[in-house]
Amino acid sequence: MDFSLTPEQKEFKRSVLKFAKNELNRDVIERDHSSEFDWEGWKKCAELGIQALPIPEEYGGVGEDIVTCMLAMQALGYGCTDAGLLFSLHSHMWTCEIPILTFGSDEQKKKYLPRMAAGEIVGGHAMTEPGAGSDAYSLMSTAEKKGDRYILNGSKTFISNAPIADVLLVFALTDKTKGWAGISGFLVDKGTKGFIVGNPLHKMGLRTSPTAEVTLEDCEVPEECRLGREGAGSAIFNAEMEWERSCLFSSHLGMMQRQLDKCVQYAKDRKQFGQSIGKFQAVSHKMADMRMRIELGELILHKVAWLKGKGKKAHLESAIAKLFISESAVQNSLDAVQIHGGYGFMTEYEVERDLRDTIGGKLYSGTSEIQRNIIASWLGL
Ligand SMILES: Cc1cc2nc3c(=O)[nH]c(=O)nc-3n(C[C@H](O)[C@H](O)[C@H](O)COP(=O)(O)OP(=O)(O)OC[C@H]3O[C@@H](n4cnc5c(N)ncnc54)[C@H](O)[C@@H]3O)c2cc1C
Repeated sequence: MDFSLTPEQKEFKRSVLKFAKNELNRDVIERDHSSEFDWEGWKKCAELGIQALPIPEEYGGVGEDIVTCMLAMQALGYGCTDAGLLFSLHSHMWTCEIPILTFGSDEQKKKYLPRMAAGEIVGGHAMTEPGAGSDAYSLMSTAEKKGDRYILNGSKTFISNAPIADVLLVFALTDKTKGWAGISGFLVDKGTKGFIVGNPLHKMGLRTSPTAEVTLEDCEVPEECRLGREGAGSAIFNAEMEWERSCLFSSHLGMMQRQLDKCVQYAKDRKQFGQSIGKFQAVSHKMADMRMRIELGELILHKVAWLKGKGKKAHLESAIAKLFISESAVQNSLDAVQIHGGYGFMTEYEVERDLRDTIGGKLYSGTSEIQRNIIASWLGL
């Protein structure tokens, strides 16, 4: 099995890493405090072509394969310490661009993709409701057909990018009698009457990625806003989750490598009892375990990329990858705080923020428990 990268892929990864280090780390501590999104960083990413990565050239993108997308996101995770900015990029790319690319009509692709690829407009998706989280398909929002229009009603919560989004992929029931098979997706533009975005929600981590509730009050959209056929909502959601669970967690691996490098350096520099703390096995073994988790996470993501690159489904493998990497990122972040001692607890060392940012990874894109349920179901349980 060949895990080597082509010279072009290596060079591309290096250039994204350099870009991220130099351009995306402005005032992260302060913006984390004030929960401020980095518009400048967003635009710089667009200039480099990040948002355009998975979009084919005919729709204004660069049409990179999934391995290259994952490499770019991993490099961003290493070089960019603003996990919120990366989270917003991920929401935009995997939960809005990809569904439009995969399920959209030619008109929808032409309307949205070139501007999304250029970073001119921001996207996201709205599935979760106050009463429907893990059990996403028990949603209550409705889309009632009236002639050539749909009337949307309901409420959504925890919607990433909602305060800054120009378009959201909203899921609602077109047929209440069919359960999950009655869910459809709609592309709803900002400013549509009855599409109400609430105030940004305050969060434990990922504070620089804005989140809000969305209320749909007799929100009327033309039939052309429906994404795919009626009832395709669950297929759209499953497809986007596969992408998100693969590419988003590449950034986690990048972050984990940066964090480990920082820990190794700290453990060499910091002296107690007359020697570097890295000489204490209790400390060095933590870093050995951190390294092992990164290696295993990379291996499973390679497998996901290989499967998806061959056009195969990776439902089980992406669930394993999501579960393993998100939980490893939290464990590595806890270890990083411990290795840094009291300094790791202090904001200015930028170690505690990784911990706060990574905890969300066990919740969004399906909680750890739900990933275990998926894996168990593949065992016939
Ligand atoms: C940072 C962040 C960003 C998000 N962004 C978006 C977004 O952009 N769009 C969107 O639609 N949603 C978004 N979400 C919502 C996210 O998808 C949900 O929070 C998640 O699916 C869990 O739903 P819940 O919060 O209602 O928890 P619940 O479903 O109420 O779960 C509570 C607890 O019960 C457990 N549990 C529930 N059911 C089972 C079961 N069957 N077996 C075992 N354990 C179970 C859960 O694992 C969890 O531990 C985001 C969430 C976060 C934290």
